[in-house]
Amino acid sequence: MRYDVIIIGAGPGGIFSAYELKKISPELKVGVFEAGHELSKRHCPIDGVKIKSCIGCDRCSIMSGFGGAGAFSDGKYNITNDFGGTLYEYIGKEEAISLMKYVDEINMSHGGEGTKLYTTAGSKFKTLCIQHGLHLLDASVRHLGTDINYVVLQNLYDELKDKVDFYFDTAVESMEVIGEEAGKTGYRVHTASDSFECDKCVISVGRSGSKWMEKICGEIGIDTRSNRVDIGVRVELPAEVFAHLTDELYESKIIYRTQKYEDLVRTFCMNPKGAVVTENTNGIVTVNGHSYEDPEKQTNNTNFALLVAKHFSQPFKDSNGYGESIAHLSNMLGGGVIVQRFGDLVRGQRSNEKRISESFTTPTLHATPGDLSLVLPKRILDGIIEMIYALDKIAPGTANDDTLLYGVEVKFYNMEVAVNSDLMCNHEGLYIIGDGSGITHSLSHASASGIHVARKITDSNESD
Ligand SMILES: Cc1cc2nc3c(=O)[nH]c(=O)nc-3n(C[C@H](O)[C@H](O)[C@H](O)COP(=O)(O)OP(=O)(O)OC[C@H]3O[C@@H](n4cnc5c(N)ncnc54)[C@H](O)[C@@H]3O)c2cc1C
Repeated sequence: MRYDVIIIGAGPGGIFSAYELKKISPELKVGVFEAGHELSKRHCPIDGVKIKSCIGCDRCSIMSGFGGAGAFSDGKYNITNDFGGTLYEYIGKEEAISLMKYVDEINMSHGGEGTKLYTTAGSKFKTLCIQHGLHLLDASVRHLGTDINYVVLQNLYDELKDKVDFYFDTAVESMEVIGEEAGKTGYRVHTASDSFECDKCVISVGRSGSKWMEKICGEIGIDTRSNRVDIGVRVELPAEVFAHLTDELYESKIIYRTQKYEDLVRTFCMNPKGAVVTENTNGIVTVNGHSYEDPEKQTNNTNFALLVAKHFSQPFKDSNGYGESIAHLSNMLGGGVIVQRFGDLVRGQRSNEKRISESFTTPTLHATPGDLSLVLPKRILDGIIEMIYALDKIAPGTANDDTLLYGVEVKFYNMEVAVNSDLMCNHEGLYIIGDGSGITHSLSHASASGIHVARKITDSNESD
């Protein structure tokens, strides 16, 4: 079977590539290969009753399938160059913002209309943050919510399913470059049972495809750069504590430079009235969070991550390996995710079931009470504690004894691939986009990168 374009991965990057390709050039034959299930078949077995924590499914439905890692996410599309990736370094700041706005238009026309767009522009919180040594990053945030995000994905799938060949539960195992000698480079991709060929190939395998991406880079000689990893905890507290910020901004990305080591600690993925969830990346259980637009599904708590970035280069390069080892330690001690009261942490005592059950903050995730100081390196933990006290000045109550800390939260970044301004690597017609490229780390940047390559592919077809 031969395609004009094969897309590997049906996360936001892959979906928006397919959408734009078919919109501009309906005649193109496009095949999308996805290791996970179609959207309606994606179910995480954790029900909070029979199955309370991650059982390590072969293919994690939270991370893979149509919609990618974003399918059950909070659906926060941050329209900004300040965080979420460095796409702008490749395609320019104006173009990056323009593509993110275009993605927002598509989301609005596929079920997202009526959802709220928050903005930091002119916010009084900027001043409040600066007064306390904190820095609020600029962004507009479209909050779809987990429920509407699902509706948008379903609508996009319904629109694409008759125009594009989708292969679900079909991981691409390996690929090869073909036709180079004849001056017409193409690609052959191999699944467990078949092989398919194409003229152009878009790789959009996200974080869950990070190990596969590294393997392919080695096998077909794609140039790479070293990566970083973010390590920290997820903070959960009563929604009232952050309500003044979340009501106006929804998500506030705040950065703090610690006094002790001058390290940067940042808030990440804030979920007002949300729930803390587990995440399984290649068998390693870490913590994350999401929230719903539907008031009936909302909780009394707000959660967000506090993360410290680590970037290793010499002589140790494997930043992800470092993050994995820390997550392994937490999995070993807690059998998964560990939860600790802030008060217990600063007093140097582990939390136990009794202290957690007596806590004024009711946990939204069933995690093992424990001691995060046995898991996180001192420097990272000191930075997190310092930032909690700094946040307490703009949101009093953050440093309460009953604030819950879940660990560990690790943001793995893929090894960064070397691509040009078309997001094409050193092989003609092979594009690497989304989180799998190491360049984007968010729904909006990954989606925008998908639109960008689709336009580059159709431009190059026209000039052929
Ligand atoms: C719980 C959670 C909440 C999040 N919340 C937000 C949020 O609110 N806002 C935000 O901006 N970001 C959020 N993110 C991050 C966001 O989901 C990602 O940045 C985004 O999904 C990246 O899109 P992508 O297409 O690059 O990759 P992905 O979404 O990871 O999709 C890649 C797809 O490729 C498939 N794949 C991998 N390898 C192969 C292979 N060999 N063959 C075939 N298919 C393969 C995978 O199964 C997956 O479906 C969240 C992530 C999680 C896990």
